[in-house]
Amino acid sequence: MTLWPDFQTATTMPTTESAKLGRKLSLVIMTSVLVVFAVIFGLLGSFVLWTADEVDEDALDRQSRRVAYFVRGQLDAIPYDQQSITIWDDMLVALRDNDERWLHINVGKWTFDYFGHDESYILAGDQPVYASVGGEDTDPDTYERRRDQTLGLVEQLRGLTSAGYVDVPPFTSDFVLIDGKPAIISVSPIVSDTGNIQQQAGREPLLVSVVHLDSDYELRLIQRYQLEAGHFTSRPGGTALGTLPVTNRAGRIVTFYEWQPYRPGETLMQRTTPALAGAFIIILIVVIALLAVLWRSSSALESKSAEAERQASIDLLTGLPNRLNFDRQFEHRLSVLALRDPPLALMMLDLDRFKQVNDTLGHHAGDELIRAVGERLAGILGPTDVLARLGGDEFAILHICHAGSVEVSALAQRIVDAIARPFRVQGTDAFVGVSIGIVITGAGILDSRELSRKADIALYEAKSGGRNRAAIYEQSMDELVQGRHVIEAELREALRAPGQLWVAFQPLCGRDDGQIIGAEALLRWTHPTLGVVAPLQFIAIAESTGLIEQLGEFVLRRAAQFGARWPHRTIAVNISPAQLRNPTFPERVFAILDETGMEPSDLEMEITEGILLDDESTVARAIHKFRQAGISIALDDFGTGYSSLNYLKRYPVDRIKIDRSFVSQLTNADGTEAIIQAMVTLAHALGIEVTAEGVETEVQYRILAAKGCNTFQGYLFSPPLTVGDMTALLTGAQTEVPEVA
Ligand code: C2E
Ligand code: CA
Ligand code: CA
Repeated sequence: MTLWPDFQTATTMPTTESAKLGRKLSLVIMTSVLVVFAVIFGLLGSFVLWTADEVDEDALDRQSRRVAYFVRGQLDAIPYDQQSITIWDDMLVALRDNDERWLHINVGKWTFDYFGHDESYILAGDQPVYASVGGEDTDPDTYERRRDQTLGLVEQLRGLTSAGYVDVPPFTSDFVLIDGKPAIISVSPIVSDTGNIQQQAGREPLLVSVVHLDSDYELRLIQRYQLEAGHFTSRPGGTALGTLPVTNRAGRIVTFYEWQPYRPGETLMQRTTPALAGAFIIILIVVIALLAVLWRSSSALESKSAEAERQASIDLLTGLPNRLNFDRQFEHRLSVLALRDPPLALMMLDLDRFKQVNDTLGHHAGDELIRAVGERLAGILGPTDVLARLGGDEFAILHICHAGSVEVSALAQRIVDAIARPFRVQGTDAFVGVSIGIVITGAGILDSRELSRKADIALYEAKSGGRNRAAIYEQSMDELVQGRHVIEAELREALRAPGQLWVAFQPLCGRDDGQIIGAEALLRWTHPTLGVVAPLQFIAIAESTGLIEQLGEFVLRRAAQFGARWPHRTIAVNISPAQLRNPTFPERVFAILDETGMEPSDLEMEITEGILLDDESTVARAIHKFRQAGISIALDDFGTGYSSLNYLKRYPVDRIKIDRSFVSQLTNADGTEAIIQAMVTLAHALGIEVTAEGVETEVQYRILAAKGCNTFQGYLFSPPLTVGDMTALLTGAQTEVPEVA
């Protein structure tokens, strides 16, 4: 038997959904925070990358335009270089004089050193007259290897110059491939700068310059124009590089200029990435730390609420599940009960005589007893059983009936036997018992309340069947309960409609002369269809439904009306505990006495011992008030309760009524006589009168009279009578009382 059966499953049951939901929720929140964070950073990152890319593309575009401008510009730049020497009288003079030294210094060396022109040729007519390669003079015939490529340019230029020109002489230049390698050939006419030397238009000597677009020239280009580092190539490579197709004047691609583009976006990225990554990591750490704190505090909250829930679901006294927890588990078990599963038994336990133990030994003893009962029960049950304390002296058990109702009955019997054994509580043995109501159910029935109701009915049955036993619910029990409901409804109706309820009076006779010294008022109910309903059938129901207060007042009023007409006769009225517990009861009693004119000293209240066990001050105060007003108190059904004599000292009473059961057993010779003798002796010693009730035979009467009983009541003298018969009896005849032997 576990004290915490299925607590884990209990926490996963409906009412703990909230905790689960909370955990889920915080998980959802945290994941979404992380996702949002990741998305924001992703978007930010993509945006930065995209911007960098845009910037780079933009920059590349600008670079391409710049490169194109400068590279294509070479076709003008080289003629411009040439013009530094081709518009010059000295040059024409040197040519005329064939001044080789002058030509070497001012043409071959100068253009090579200063402009990087790799080859220079001077043509006079169509004949080469001077040649220089790499700044060194060489045989003019070297020109022949370039003749084919320069032919077009030369002829074109001759056309231009022969057409005449103003100010600046024309030139021709183009990109060409020399031995598969790119080069620029530029042709300019050599003319007089002063105009002093006359020449025939179209017959001017020509300077032909060849510039190989090689690494030297590339370097020159880069330095001169602050271009991005690059080179000419016939086969452009990577897409990461900037590429400019270099076309000749005819529009044909001669070569490509390729360069490592400057990428400001990428550079910016490279510079800022570490910082951004650092920031990202720091923010990520902060976010994760915050989430961790959130998670920790939310799970702390959760475990706190789980603990609170656990606390709320256990009974603090026994540590067993409480009603709430039990109901939850019961509902859960019902919901998972399958057709093939063995049936489930719900057992409701109620301790008998617990209240007495609690009252006599104190609340601490009561608590100790409840704990001990819990432990004893736990010791009997199996691991799959659920034991709970529902409150007060009520326990409940869920039991799987592997072997049907026989087994459940056996278990119930073991429990009854175990609880019947004395409990050692605060140094004394306490005796309690247990009544058990059982309902057995199979799959498909989910109404736990209905099942609890049935178990309660069975429990009621077990109790009314003599306690200390178990009863398994049957349909017929429901009918009984149904009967109780009918009685209750009909009783309410009877209280409204006059005539059904009336009061009978049973004479009380004196000891010596048979004189009627009074009467006991007894409630009677004659129902229009049910007929006469005995008090035993409805008093208990009236007590449990609260109707007894109205009924009691009805009887009291009738009794008082009768008593007012017959003063100096004791009129005994049965008072129910519920009436006495009502603080306004004494007021109402006195009001009725006033209203009817009955003398308080003629009224006797019959109370049962049970009420004296209540240590409620209301009851004690009421009794005290009544006695002070002269109303006498009789203890009814004396001898049937427990430890009655103790209470006689605590609560002074005027009379005890020895219960019928003693009187009827008088002749059985089983010690009853001695018991009665003891009761009478004791009562008399305390100054208390004794009435014997239920006297049916003369023999009983004689014995009781001999024992010293003061008053007698029973069929031997008279049954309860109507007011009319009672009045007739009082006015007329004397009851025949046998002689005392
Ligand atoms: P009780 O107070 O012990 O009342 C005496 C019962 O014994 C009455 O039964 C009476 O009819 C019956 N009785 C009288 N003489 C004899 C006899 O010689 N032999 C036998 N066998 N019985 C005799 P009744 O009227 O059926 O009442 C039963 C119980 O109902 C009463 O027991 C009392 O506890 C309760 N009761 C009756 N009227 C009232 C009432 O007005 N208020 C309250 N609170 N309870 C009442
Ligand atoms: Ca009575
Ligand atoms: Ca009685």
